[in-house]
Amino acid sequence: MSMISVSEAINRLRYSSSVRVGSEKCRLKACVGRVLASDIVAGINVPPADNSAMDGYALRRQDWKGPDDRLEISQRIIAGTPPEPLIAGTAARIFTGAEIPHGADIVVVQEKCSEGGQRVCMQSVGAIGANIRPKGQDIKHGATVLKAGHRLRPQDLGLIASLGFADIEVWQRLKVAIISTGSELVEPGQVAKPGQIYNSNHYMLDALLRTWGFEVVDLGISKDDPLTLTEVMVEASRKSDAIVTTGGVSVGEEDHVKAVVESLGKLDLWRVAIKPGKPFAFGNVMGTAFIGLPGNPVSALITILIIARPFLFDCQGIKNHDIVPQRQTALFDLQGCNRQVYLRVRSGQDGVELFSQQSSGALYATAWGDGMVVQYPGQDINRGDTVDVIPYTLLN
Ligand code: AMP
Ligand code: MG
Repeated sequence: MSMISVSEAINRLRYSSSVRVGSEKCRLKACVGRVLASDIVAGINVPPADNSAMDGYALRRQDWKGPDDRLEISQRIIAGTPPEPLIAGTAARIFTGAEIPHGADIVVVQEKCSEGGQRVCMQSVGAIGANIRPKGQDIKHGATVLKAGHRLRPQDLGLIASLGFADIEVWQRLKVAIISTGSELVEPGQVAKPGQIYNSNHYMLDALLRTWGFEVVDLGISKDDPLTLTEVMVEASRKSDAIVTTGGVSVGEEDHVKAVVESLGKLDLWRVAIKPGKPFAFGNVMGTAFIGLPGNPVSALITILIIARPFLFDCQGIKNHDIVPQRQTALFDLQGCNRQVYLRVRSGQDGVELFSQQSSGALYATAWGDGMVVQYPGQDINRGDTVDVIPYTLLN
């Protein structure tokens, strides 16, 4: 079995399956992190009419004859009430956000005005249009402001609300089943007997998938036993759009995932030139997409972040989710190897620091740090080199 590159693995995954989720209407308030299933097109102008950017006086620029001119105040316009047309040769008292009366073409800020006896003097006035926010300045009627495939952030919800939409069409959450394989695993809260370790992968993957906006189907721990594994895989395929397992994909005698998936569907086992995380399995279980991550916690984390994330985001209908690594200075020396290494690092003022323990089982390194340096195959890193860094936050 030859090794494939990281980008080849990402591409094979992305192009070998097309999981489709349906769409649903969602209340705007519940939409943060959801993915638009259709474009958002403005049905109105924002703002809907010319309005004042300041508290002051609205007038027709040519009616102001100079600082001694005392213009009559013919109306008072507050935000929320439509104005009357401006009487020629007069000024209107106006407040921020209030609509500009028909006939006025400038607002003079109140700091430049003095009012007395229903009249106002202005020291100076600006150019036509000053302090007026024109209709449609923010958004023009008919404009496409957000495209299908966009994952909604708080400011997007504000924007959609400004157009008056109360609920919108989003993709249903992708349902991802997690199965943790390994007869040695017990759940936190239980007593770990001799030979047993706590299931850390599940908690990490569950949180990650939910951060990505997916729905998690928790199928717990499965013993390394073909019958148990078969049952749980069948259940997973019924309940989810994609199945993620950890462990059991090596070629040891107790690694049954491969045989079980092959018996229920199809499996490709890849040796990906990635470190940590070499064994990576992909296929389907009775038609449901299947991803088999390595059991070592750091390997599981890095392979889901780097290899599976683009595929899962595609499945969720998210567009434009490619990431661009940052460039930072390495504060360490490290020889390269023939695989692409994702080093656990922490960034500071002067550059990125390498954690001393880079074992694929040493999860503490990922919590200590804030990201990964990408060390490309054959790349020797010397202190002071500029290297590619992927902060974990970039993968949220
Ligand atoms: P495997 O790929 O099943 O051979 O597992 C590789 C290593 O990862 C072994 O040391 C396992 O005990 C460990 N491991 C597998 N699954 C988990 C898990 N869910 N949580 C913590 N460690 C695990
Ligand atoms: Mg195992």
